[in-house]
Order: sequence, then structure tokens, then C-alpha cells
Amino acid sequence: MSALPRVGNFIGGRLVDGSGPRFPDYDPGRGEVIGEVFSAGEAEIEAAVAQARCAARAWARAAGAGRGRALRRIAEVLRAHNDELAELETRDTGRPIAETRSVDILSAADCFEYFGALAATLATEHVDLGPSAFGYVRREPIGVVGAIGAWNYPLQIASWKAAPALAFGNAVVFKPSELTPQSALRLAALLVEAGLPPGLFNVVQGDARVGRALVRHPEVDKITLTGEVNTGRAVMAEAAAGLKRVSLELGGKSPLIVFSDADLDAAVTGAMLGNFYSSGEICSNGTRVFVERPILAAFLDRLSLRTERLRIGDPLDPATDVGAMISTTHGERVTGYIERGLTEGARLITGGRRMHEGVPAGGFYIAPTIFTADDGMTLAREEIFGPVMTVLPFDEEEEVIARANATPYGLAAGLFTRDVTRAYRVAARLGAGVCWINHYNVTPVELPFGGVKQSGIGRENGRAAIEAYTEVKSVYVALGDIESPY
Ligand code: NDP
Repeated sequence: MSALPRVGNFIGGRLVDGSGPRFPDYDPGRGEVIGEVFSAGEAEIEAAVAQARCAARAWARAAGAGRGRALRRIAEVLRAHNDELAELETRDTGRPIAETRSVDILSAADCFEYFGALAATLATEHVDLGPSAFGYVRREPIGVVGAIGAWNYPLQIASWKAAPALAFGNAVVFKPSELTPQSALRLAALLVEAGLPPGLFNVVQGDARVGRALVRHPEVDKITLTGEVNTGRAVMAEAAAGLKRVSLELGGKSPLIVFSDADLDAAVTGAMLGNFYSSGEICSNGTRVFVERPILAAFLDRLSLRTERLRIGDPLDPATDVGAMISTTHGERVTGYIERGLTEGARLITGGRRMHEGVPAGGFYIAPTIFTADDGMTLAREEIFGPVMTVLPFDEEEEVIARANATPYGLAAGLFTRDVTRAYRVAARLGAGVCWINHYNVTPVELPFGGVKQSGIGRENGRAAIEAYTEVKSVYVALGDIESPY
């Protein structure tokens, strides 16, 4: 493996090898090894946290306007490197280049731009306490943020965490998923190139052990995780020992409801976006598609026709719609769910198999799959994180709301209807942190993103992120003599 590019850590503005275990990084599109990852050992984790602590001190004292300027420069640098970063992301995730070029880097840049603008707007609240006193409420940085990412949108996840954390005066130590170590490293270098002081954004590589070390580290003040529900549980339990602040962006099994008055083509587009984009490897996917019975047959016809036209194959080919699964292990997990669906009696409409023809050898490709099923089946209950859609017929509005909400998750929800009053009424009653009316899976940075119930705690993006990355300090100011009770 010695001739392979070294994928190291980024600490204090410099690339450094790690003293932890080494492992190969794969291009999931081809199954080829594209780098050797040097995970952080104890020494590198200590160094990264120490650098972050030190850099955070000066950064916290800087005026918000100055921090904002730095973030807006980063946005420009990211846009200028769109093609390079998109290719890196596609090679590391197996997601189509058409997606990474048009979404991942631009969404990250938008995030830096948005929080760059917000950085200077943190206004102190003045509280009148009568003639003898007043108070004011400051928003202060939390300190060092340990950020842990999932593998589906590595650069976007890193940016959604780093941009608000940095905007409000914190420093970050980021651990990417061991499956996608590359783009965070490049992001870190570009941040410094754009003028961000070294030490404010550090990257430590490795598996869950490195994540755990960050969660346990006494000098890490807050943890923000994007990952599975069980990981969220473990991280929260571990963070409780240090009473550490946590934000959790976790999984889901979100409902998408199609009423019979909906624009059918738009609803089909929504269902496809919510199930097949990024090979279905998206946390907010609307994998339970409830369709009102009178339009069920027409919906399935249109949906299967358009799904069968999707081009599955080489992620680097700009014409590809659906790329590879992140790994063979994950691909087998997804095909396991398909088999389970068949065993439990779900009806397969299209897809349902691993593809071997017309796709690069070495990758794990799954034909976009549609089932009709019952709510109780595994397909309709568990997060699959692959291109597997489950369509469920319904008859009444009240009934579908109850069924949509009958899940321990609550990340997202969507509905298609032309009836505006119904749209607002139903959106208000869906148990989800994000809800789309007549669209699906669009995530502008201006809107908070995150889940209720077991899908998470806290919100990313929007002004809600101020809560996630600042502490409130109340200051009481006495204006006159103070009475002594003694
Ligand atoms: P995992 O939960 O397996 O991993 C997420 C990250 O946590 C990885 O970096 C992982 O390290 C690390 N980790 C695992 N265990 C621990 C631990 N005990 N302590 C600290 N860190 C730990 O998720 P995946 O990477 O498999 O991503 C898929 C999941 O992420 C899906 O459930 C999906 O729904 C969710 N997700 C949620 C999003 C949201 O915004 N709500 C967005 C995207 C994905 P390692 O390198 O070993 O994997």
C-alpha cells in the first residue's frame, strides 16, 4: 500500500500522519483502493484538541464581522474548487458526479456564506429590571466542538457543522466517517488557504474509537454527530458522563403522502427524489410513500416507467443518475432488506436486484426498487438507507396522518396536494422536524434541519443553529446602592 496517496490528519493548519491504525480507503464505484488512511492515535487527538482550544481563544474574541468576512471568503474558495471537490467526493462516496457537482459543494458554500452573514448579527438582548438595575444577555461561543460525520454527504456534513460553529466563535475537531476520509481533509486545507487561522478546523481520521475519544475528551465542550440512531444513543450516553452538550442528526423512516388531487408527475418526481437520489443513502428520505387509493394504479404506472429509465452506473459519468452503494457490506444489508420484503409478502413492482451488467466491476449497484407493502412489514418500519421505496395505499386524511406518525422516527415528511388548506393542516400534524409541501428533500441553508423523536436533538442551519453553537450568559447590572440584609 506504500505507493498510495496518504490520507492523514489536519492539525493546527498542517497535514500530519497518524500514529493509529492504517487502513485502505476505497472508491466504492469501482472497489479500488484510492488511499491509505493514517488514523489519529492518542497523540494526534490530543494535539488536535489542544490546537483547537488555543485557536478558539483568539477567535472567540474577534468581532463577529471579522469572522463573517473569513467565512464568506471560504464560500468563494469552495465555489472556485467545485469541480475538483465534486470529483473527490464522487470517488469517495460512489455518488454520481452530476449530484456532487450541483449539490454538495455548492450547498457547503451556501452554508459558509449564510453563517458568514449571520456572524455579525448576534445582538445582545437588553432587559429592563426597573430603576435600580438592568440586565443583558450575551451569546458566547461554547469552545471546542467535536464533530462526527456520516459517509453519505461528507463535505456537506462537515460544512453544516463547521460554518455555524466557526461563525459564532468556536473551533472544531472533525472526524469524518472512516469510509469517506478525503474531502474533509481538502476542506481543511482550503479553509486555511482562504485565510482562516490555523487550528480552528482540524481533522482526525479513524473509526468509532476516534469518535469515542472525542466524546470522552474533557477539553471538548460539545459534540455534534450525524449518524445512526444507535450511534446517537451511544454518543449521548457517553457525553452524559461529562454533561457535554450534544446535537444529534440521526436516521429516519419518513412519510411522503400523495393525495389524489396532487399533480401526479410532480408527486412521482418527489417520490423518486426522496428514494433514489444518492442511491437512497439520505437520512431524510421519504421511504414510506402513502398514496390515496383512487390514484394508486396511475401513480405506480408512472413511477415504475420513470424509475426504469434511470441510468445506473459509473458515478464519474455525468449521465449517471444512480451510483454505487457505499460498500459491499452496506449493499448486502440493503439487498437483505429486499429479500426480507419478498419473504414477508411485499409485492415487488420493479428493481429488487443487484446489478452486474453495464456497471463498473467492483462496485455494488442496486436497481432502484419499488414495493407495495403493509405498514407492519420490515420494509415499512426500518431505515434501509438504499434505493428501496415502499408504497402504501390509504383512504382517509385522518387515517394517513395516524399511520405516517406511527414510527419512533421524526426527521422529515412530505405531502403532495393542490388543496392549500389541507396542505397546511396536514403539515401541522406530521411528527417531523422538516416538512415539504409539493416537493421533497430540498434543504436550503436558511431553513433549520433536524429531527424530533428518535431522529435527533437540536437543529442545523437557519437561525436555529445559533442555539446549537452558543451559550447564553445573563449579566445583571446594579445601578445604585445595594441593600444589605446582614
Ligand atoms: P454511523 O452512526 O455508523 O456513523 C456515524 C459516525 O459516527 C461515523 O463517523 C462513525 O465512525 C462514528 N461513530 C460510530 N460509533 C461511534 C461512537 N460510539 N462514538 C463516537 N462516534 C461513533 O452512521 P453512518 O456513517 O453509517 O451513516 C448513516 C446513518 O447516518 C444513517 O442512519 C442516516 O440516517 C444517518 N444520517 C443522518 C443525517 C441527518 O442529518 N439526520 C444525515 C446523514 C446521515 P466510523 O468511521 O467507524 O463509521
